Amino acid sequence: MHLEKLKLYNFRNYPELEVFFHDKMNLILGENGQGKTNLLESIYFLSRGRSFRNPNRELVKTGEEKAFVDGIFVRNDTDSKEHVQITMNYGLSAEGTSILLNRKKLKSRSELAGKILIVDFTPEDLSIVKDGPDKRRRFIDNELLNIKPVHGAALKEYGKILRQRNELLKTMQRDPSVKDTLFVWDERLVKTGKKILFNRIGFMQKINGIAKEIHENLTDGKEALKLYYYSNLIKNNDDLSSFEEIFRQKLDQNLSQDIRRGSTSAGPHLDDIKININDMDAKTYGSQGQKRTCALSLKLSQTSIIKEETGEDAIVLLDDVMSELDGNRQQRIMEHFKDNQIVITSTEISFLDQLPKSMKKIYNVKSGK
Ligand code: ATP
Ligand code: MG
Repeated sequence: MHLEKLKLYNFRNYPELEVFFHDKMNLILGENGQGKTNLLESIYFLSRGRSFRNPNRELVKTGEEKAFVDGIFVRNDTDSKEHVQITMNYGLSAEGTSILLNRKKLKSRSELAGKILIVDFTPEDLSIVKDGPDKRRRFIDNELLNIKPVHGAALKEYGKILRQRNELLKTMQRDPSVKDTLFVWDERLVKTGKKILFNRIGFMQKINGIAKEIHENLTDGKEALKLYYYSNLIKNNDDLSSFEEIFRQKLDQNLSQDIRRGSTSAGPHLDDIKININDMDAKTYGSQGQKRTCALSLKLSQTSIIKEETGEDAIVLLDDVMSELDGNRQQRIMEHFKDNQIVITSTEISFLDQLPKSMKKIYNVKSGK
């Protein structure tokens, strides 16, 4: 799939813009603060109906009330076109965001899911490797959602049960008699928690092989990437069949502590993913460039999964990805995604020197023009 044409109106610092894209390599070139990431954000916005950074109302050019983004995408298999237009009305009219797909208005943003196949990498994705477990849980849950939408329902349900259980624990600090109702919440937590854990472990098996291969590719075979799902309840896959029992036992064991804290100290909401490079923890021992390559391999494994599931090559959006990477890794990224349309931002151009003129288009961005 590729983006053929993009039109912006009052989007961020772009008053008006019309761009035709190359179906392979597009470099958005410019100095800091000129609108490179904004342009990438507008493309991402067409696939999700929301930004990768801010709430939609902040996307409207300051001082304006209405913005729109319009994109024409072409599917590789049939040459059929998807036309997506998103209009945002804020300020006095306060109508919010409306989305048109092939000129038909969608009832909700979720109807856009899976229509425009985009995989993005932004500097914030480094947090998958560098920051706390919540970032890694969110990463895996988001990736999972793309191929297994029912995971979303399980997560929502689990979150709701957890909040209610925690409320009950707080009430128990004052009124121990409510304890009788606790087992109802525990049972629901265990059942839904099991769904989440099984979905995640299944997905980990899938992504492990793919991310490892990408990583090997990007590092010229020098680094072996391995992911481990770290559950606070089970130690290895042999324990999977007794997950429910183990979870119930742990909830019982931790009860007095949980009442004191007013929160639940066991369950998949506290799990983590360990990311190893050559058997060393990437978070603790990895260099800047290694962490970046790791985050890239993880995030971009989605392109292989999309290809497997849909037969389509996703559009790859790369924001400021080349900094901190050596020339070899830069070239390998280009090679790895040679079948995909790439839109990449950068302040410099040299990594494209080897690519023939006919294979690329370069856009100079200055002050939203
Ligand atoms: P860098 O190389 O530093 O990442 P960039 O080219 O990616 O820079 P962007 O983040 O795309 O820069 O654009 C930043 C510019 O957009 C800033 O000057 C900012 O003031 C402007 N901007 C952001 N949001 C809006 C908005 N809603 N209305 C008008 N201008 C905006
Ligand atoms: Mg930027």
